[in-house]
Amino acid sequence: MTSPAPVVLVFLDPAFPDGRLADASRPQLMATDQGATRGDGVFESMLAVGGAVRKLQAHLDRLVGSAQALDLVIPAQDAWRAAIATGVAEHRSQHPATSPAEDELVVKLVVTRGPEGAESPTCWVQVSPVGALGRRQRETGIDVILLDRGYDSDVAERAPWLLLGAKTLSYATNMAALRYAHKQGADDVIFTSSDGRVLEGPTSTVLLAHLETSDDGAGATRTVRRLITPQLDSGILPGTSQGALFAAAKAAGWELGYGPLEPQDLLDADAVWLISSIRLLAPVNHIDGREVGTPAVQKQLTAELNALFAGIQ
Ligand code: PLP
Repeated sequence: MTSPAPVVLVFLDPAFPDGRLADASRPQLMATDQGATRGDGVFESMLAVGGAVRKLQAHLDRLVGSAQALDLVIPAQDAWRAAIATGVAEHRSQHPATSPAEDELVVKLVVTRGPEGAESPTCWVQVSPVGALGRRQRETGIDVILLDRGYDSDVAERAPWLLLGAKTLSYATNMAALRYAHKQGADDVIFTSSDGRVLEGPTSTVLLAHLETSDDGAGATRTVRRLITPQLDSGILPGTSQGALFAAAKAAGWELGYGPLEPQDLLDADAVWLISSIRLLAPVNHIDGREVGTPAVQKQLTAELNALFAGIQ
């Protein structure tokens, strides 16, 4: 067995304004906690680089939205900020990074409904190192398969109790889809709806790019870079990375687009990525065994978008 990655836990506790540090190697939750027995709760995962959490406000805002969707009343954002600062500082002091490039931490915020009958949710911050696989996939890219998510792209509006736009703890199907992909020799998944739309990855947002070169009429050529993602009302999680990258790309002159997208749009794209807060941009090399775009264009666009994304705080 490999030794577990070092984890720091900080519980939100009104008696501890900066959060209460807890021993991650000891049991800390009641076995009756509804987060454990029902997956009833919400979470966020974000990246701290050099001790600074990226897109912190966007993550806190999405946590609030997810909690509201589940009728959970959670502590104020200042309490989360204080507990996050405690957890990140503690991790960096206990387990200093061996080089600046390795100074990346996963900061997870977790809210459960607590034990049966609890008056308030159980909330904590978990800080751990970024896994080597995710870091590698930023460089090497990934092969994905398309998998049917089993519902149509209108269901989120029709059936709000499915909590489709919320980041709930019920990720068992997302993890099962990833295991299914791994058994097929793929790295990741792009879900499609039963009406044939591209949705998202189990832990990421889908992005694609098109380069459109045209004559400007005066003999010069003009290249338009277009960045496209599935439309947000199709029952997918609104990605904080996609949102931030779209804003940066727009400022850098890219054109933006929102689905609906079909699998053929992915195959016709010049490049496709799965983007998320921890792994960042993972270029998609193959979808169901078919090559996506051209390696040289993918490499160039990935470098361009990585540079834009690196500037996001
Ligand atoms: N979609 C799903 C289902 C996710 O779980 C995630 C992140 O974990 C994302 C998209 C990407 O979100 P973000 O960019 O905020 O990390």
